[in-house]
Amino acid sequence: MKLYISADMEGISGIIDPSYIDPDRGKNYERGRRLMTHDVNAVIEAAVEFGATEILVADSHYKMSNLLIEELHPQATLLCGSPRNFSMMEGLDSSFDAALFVGYHARHGIPGVLSHTMSGVIKNLYVNGQVVGEFGFNAIYAALCGVPVCFVSGDDQIAQEAIELCPSISTAIVKRAVSRTSAACLSLSASARELKEKTKQALTSVPLLTPLGVKVPLELAIEFAHTGQAEMAAIVPGTEYRVGTTHVTFQAQDQYELYKVMRAMINLAGTVEFC
Ligand SMILES: [Zn+2]
Repeated sequence: MKLYISADMEGISGIIDPSYIDPDRGKNYERGRRLMTHDVNAVIEAAVEFGATEILVADSHYKMSNLLIEELHPQATLLCGSPRNFSMMEGLDSSFDAALFVGYHARHGIPGVLSHTMSGVIKNLYVNGQVVGEFGFNAIYAALCGVPVCFVSGDDQIAQEAIELCPSISTAIVKRAVSRTSAACLSLSASARELKEKTKQALTSVPLLTPLGVKVPLELAIEFAHTGQAEMAAIVPGTEYRVGTTHVTFQAQDQYELYKVMRAMINLAGTVEFC
């Protein structure tokens, strides 16, 4: 069994605010890295016990070099660093049996811990008219690669969001959101137990899972916080934009174009100062 793990940071055990996830300013960032490695290792350990023979872990938060390779389970390969064309999903292809999302968070506007969608500029992200967060966007990418997403870990809010899109997914809830920067967190030993148990449950279900059905071409639509960001995003050739609105759309021919154009749009939009 060959597995792909995409690991974000906001949904990791014990992480509740930006001080744990920002390498430039976070007083708890080094703790955050250890916590992230703890959760990823619990999932790998369970996968190896289950019989996984190949595991690729894509560090998928911010600059994508957060996991501590010194402490990583020896049977996994670590994909780290940025930029990467397909960002949180780099390296995934049809040779993988399943994908697992560790440390994920709820989309923008949902009251989950550190909820957001991709970067600070996106209010709402849509694929084929359906609002998605990072979970949904990456699950669609995986589906078009022919790979089902069988597992997600994070708070109770991302678990709910994931189930709405993928009803058969296994969810490991390591904390319950109290506000965007507060949560009731399991102890690390309890969260490791939860992660391991749900990983094994997820891997048992893999033969029964089918990747999400997604219609191609894909309509990508992004709602930005203000018109200035939308104007910058609309520089990308092929986008459609009506002046004075905050929505920019694009018809993508496949998942690769979808991911790259989304990244180009949010990076351009991110150059505008919000004042
Ligand atoms: Zn992140």
